[in-house]
Amino acid sequence: MFTSLRARLLVWYSLLLAAIVAAFAALVLFGVWQARVGDIDRDLQRRTDTLVESLEPSEAGTFDLTLPSPETTEAPDYHAVWDDRGHLIDQDDAPDTSVPASEGFAFTIRGREQVSRTPAGAVVLVGRDLSDVRQELWSLAGTMGAIAAGALLLALVGGWWLTGRALAPVEAISQTAQLMSGGDFAARIPLDRVETEVEQLARALNEAFDRLYDSLQRQQRFAADASHELRTPLATLTTEVNWALRRPRTPDEYQASLRSSQRAAARMQRCVEQLLQLARADAPGDPTPAEPCSMDALAAEVACGLEPLARNRDVQLHVEAAPVRVWADPGRLGEALNNLVANAIHYNVDHGQVWIRVRALPDAAEVEVRDTGVGIAADHLPQLFDRFYRVDAARTAGPGGAGLGLAVARAIVERLGGTLSVISTPGEGSAFTMTIPLGTAPATPPPGTQDAVPGAS
Ligand code: ADP
Repeated sequence: MFTSLRARLLVWYSLLLAAIVAAFAALVLFGVWQARVGDIDRDLQRRTDTLVESLEPSEAGTFDLTLPSPETTEAPDYHAVWDDRGHLIDQDDAPDTSVPASEGFAFTIRGREQVSRTPAGAVVLVGRDLSDVRQELWSLAGTMGAIAAGALLLALVGGWWLTGRALAPVEAISQTAQLMSGGDFAARIPLDRVETEVEQLARALNEAFDRLYDSLQRQQRFAADASHELRTPLATLTTEVNWALRRPRTPDEYQASLRSSQRAAARMQRCVEQLLQLARADAPGDPTPAEPCSMDALAAEVACGLEPLARNRDVQLHVEAAPVRVWADPGRLGEALNNLVANAIHYNVDHGQVWIRVRALPDAAEVEVRDTGVGIAADHLPQLFDRFYRVDAARTAGPGGAGLGLAVARAIVERLGGTLSVISTPGEGSAFTMTIPLGTAPATPPPGTQDAVPGAS
């Protein structure tokens, strides 16, 4: 019936309060009633004693009753006295003149009565009409009921206000959620309007919103960067094709145009491949085929593959590799290492040097790629591994790529649970270090690798 939490809280709170007030009123009324009955019983006892003392057995076998002068009291009392044979000796306003069956105090329809038997056998009944006491209690109950109703009303109004105040943060949270679902991703829960208990929840939600917003912005930036990166070679390709088709050209002109188109296509292909690698590394469910991968062999293979480039750039490559094996996909790990070494060659100086060092740590393999190149200024280091980040952002052609090489390397290394870090001194060179945990064999190792033990080769 009550769908709102506020109304439901209020109903429960009111019912509880009403029950407490009713119990309290009942206790007060019972206490007052008990006190009145106690007073009445003492009065009845006193009057019984007076009547018993006034009864004198006479010589004729009956009793003489000499009542003292009546007290001036407004109490609706009555009494009756019988002799030992059950004959009524005296009565005053008694409702019934038959001898009572039992002795002691008792409640009757009319009121409270005490019946006593004297040593000589006479029976004395004294009674008190309780209608005035009942009247008094009813009026007390009425007064208490009115006060309780007033208090309940006040509590209801106060409770409505208090529950509204207590639930205001929930309202603020739902308003923010509505704003966000309406497209305002910068909306946050105002923390000044929430109570301490809800503050933690609001903070956690705000942090989650921050992360969501951040990841959304990164996605938007990523899409914009990717399209921007592909736009230049696509424009080159379109221009070259249009130029070649506009009118007949000489064979040399065609060749030059085709070479330019080839470079643009290669650049696009490289960018799309790297995007694919990143997407694979990001995909949570993408299974990485792990096999024993000899890091020293991998370093030698990468160095061998890049030797022509190094020669071309007049850079010397050195490999110092200790034998160490990790469980990984050699293809992807080779790609990561290749990116680091290619960068070390690209961003080197003439007659420069590049060292690839592989070390075996107790539970990991460490690969350092050190160069004597141009180095990287400290303010670029924090964003260096970001996607599409280039130190020289204006450069679109030249040795470098789309600014994805380091991002791909880091994604691959982190996917294996490793780390990739850099230290660099401008003008002196850079050192990139990746640390790959040795890892463990997958549940079902690839065929032919059963006996391989990573960490030693
Ligand atoms: P790119 O494909 O443009 O080389 P990367 O992600 O591989 O992109 O590198 C990002 C930027 O980091 C490059 O633009 C380059 O300026 C800088 N960089 C990477 N490696 C080195 C290095 N060994 N020495 C100097 N600068 C480097």
